[in-house]
Amino acid sequence: MSGPPTTGRFAPTPSGDLHLGNLRTALVAWLSARANPGGRFVVRVEDLDPATRQPDVARRQLDDLERLGLDWDGEPQWQSDRLDAHNAAIEQLTDQDRTYPCWCSRAEIRAATLAPHGLQPSDGATLPDGAYPGICADLDTVGRARRAERTGRPPALRLRADAVRVTVTDDAAGEFTGIVDDLVLRRADGVPAYNLAVVVDDAAAGVTEVVRGADLLSSTPRQAHLADLLGLARPSWLHVPLVVGPDGTRLAKRHGAVTLAELVDAGWTPDRVCGLLASSLGLAATGGPVRPATVLEHLNADTFVASLPTTEWVVDPAALD
Ligand code: GLU
Repeated sequence: MSGPPTTGRFAPTPSGDLHLGNLRTALVAWLSARANPGGRFVVRVEDLDPATRQPDVARRQLDDLERLGLDWDGEPQWQSDRLDAHNAAIEQLTDQDRTYPCWCSRAEIRAATLAPHGLQPSDGATLPDGAYPGICADLDTVGRARRAERTGRPPALRLRADAVRVTVTDDAAGEFTGIVDDLVLRRADGVPAYNLAVVVDDAAAGVTEVVRGADLLSSTPRQAHLADLLGLARPSWLHVPLVVGPDGTRLAKRHGAVTLAELVDAGWTPDRVCGLLASSLGLAATGGPVRPATVLEHLNADTFVASLPTTEWVVDPAALD
């Protein structure tokens, strides 16, 4: 019996227009999914955070994907419509006695992490950025009441992860082992946290492969652990090296014309942008105009992943003409 159809996805946060880095990752995700017979590709708008919930930006992002020639199956999913599923998953973890309330501010966490007794892996395993050092983990009822009173704020809810080591396999980079910290499941403002939502929503959408930026590799053991605890199948992962400006920092507005709209304003056609992206991935020789469907036609599905670049792509927007 064959398994579920390969389903890939692109899951942008609507915090700003998609730039060359996002579009390049989307292209890889689309190619990887569509290279399989019957491969599906879905899009999810990650609009949980009220601070970045900008429906007009989300619609521009979807338009840009379409303009570039990246299509998807079904309707885009809006993550803010999925709160019931996120809360049900959090309840499931609470029923397993794996959650606790946390009143810490970012400043407190930073100070505790810098202290000499902060979490220190001694065996080469990786701690995710901003790993929580466990300040509220062992509070009893009195301690909790005291923290609640002293801070005057509602608590976030954290996973009790017991610093478990989780190994994931990245299709390009191979094995990666991380220590799972007591990550946030629900923020103090009630919003489900990214790591929880991404696991629940990918599973519900039948996503079998996650292709995304390399900055999220360090969070992948967290997500694998959550999937395991929730009884959900782990997808496969492929992390695509980031795109950086000439100064070596992650590509951003300050580097110049980097979004599709800006490049189109500067005279680029979407097909030329696609050609630039495809040649940066070693999938088109010249960088001339091309449609994703044409790149797909010529793709060697067997060697595609192994041949992807393993280092960052340096782009100087001032030199693009
Ligand atoms: N929404 C995240 C972003 O735009 C990506 C999340 C993911 O792919 O897991 O960076």
